[in-house]
Amino acid sequence: MILSGKALAAEIEEGLKKRVERLGFAPGLDIIMVGDDPASRTYVEKKLNKAGDIGIKGRLHHLTESTTEEELLALVSKLNADKSVQGFIVQMPLPKHINPLKIISSIDPRKDADGLHPLNLGRLAQGSETVVCATPKGIMRLINHYRIPLAGAEAVVIGRSNMVGKPISYLLTNSDATVTLCHSRSRNLAEHTSRADLLVAAVGSPYLIKAGMVKEGAHVIDVGTTRFGGKMAGDVDFDTVSKKANVTPVPGGVGPLTVIMLMENLVELAEKAKEEPAPAPRNSRRRRGQA
Ligand code: NAP
Repeated sequence: MILSGKALAAEIEEGLKKRVERLGFAPGLDIIMVGDDPASRTYVEKKLNKAGDIGIKGRLHHLTESTTEEELLALVSKLNADKSVQGFIVQMPLPKHINPLKIISSIDPRKDADGLHPLNLGRLAQGSETVVCATPKGIMRLINHYRIPLAGAEAVVIGRSNMVGKPISYLLTNSDATVTLCHSRSRNLAEHTSRADLLVAAVGSPYLIKAGMVKEGAHVIDVGTTRFGGKMAGDVDFDTVSKKANVTPVPGGVGPLTVIMLMENLVELAEKAKEEPAPAPRNSRRRRGQA
């Protein structure tokens, strides 16, 4: 079976449009992009277009490659304080002279649409309610949609990034799967992958996963997207693996769900902000006794 993400993403989009209407205002999603990485440009365009389709006000802050860490921190701080912005993201990767963890940690967790702030990632690891990073959230939605059983299942995740590998391993663990997390130093990858009921490949190495590495009837989620031979390639050798297992295609699998989950996160943040407005900054509070 092909585990397509397109129809599911379209269905979720319709629901989000209605939620935006109910909000009564167009929530703002700001995207900070530093430099000119061509892949980032494409992802940012897709996000802004999808935001527009749903009624979200997308705004791009495109900074030059030579932007300093201090300048970027100042912009983050400005967006943290801007009441018209319900959520924002800093598009990765950042230029080498900027520490991504420092930038992510400076985002107000209540506006962290990517769910990458340490507080949000920590809450996710705890199994508490939080903003969930878009790609892992999309994977879980796909798993639920296709009713892939998780309790007691052997789940193998390849890749340990903060954006995909680690958070999906937390979510699968919290759903009672037995999770193995592999990375570039793992010995004998095929030994791990071939016992997986559910395999999630988030590496960025075209066609790394061959049919011989996958169990018959397994479910395989291909997160990888690498420009290769003039087209977008996944981590899974789809043509051979799909003959014995259920696989997400690239494109058309995880990608559309990632974009729509970012939009869902933004709508959730906007709904929360409407319910519980952020407290006023200290220096603007009225003193006791003041009218
Ligand atoms: P990343 O930060 O580069 O992490 C890659 C991970 O793969 C690392 O943990 C690395 O191990 C591991 N790895 C590299 N070579 C390996 C090998 N031969 N065997 C086993 N593990 C190996 O990448 P990412 O941000 O997680 O993204 C992964 C892929 O998903 C990329 O292709 C990216 O473009 C794609 N992606 C797609 C979407 C989507 O919406 N479809 C969203 C996000 C990312 P070490 O930690 O040891 O270096």
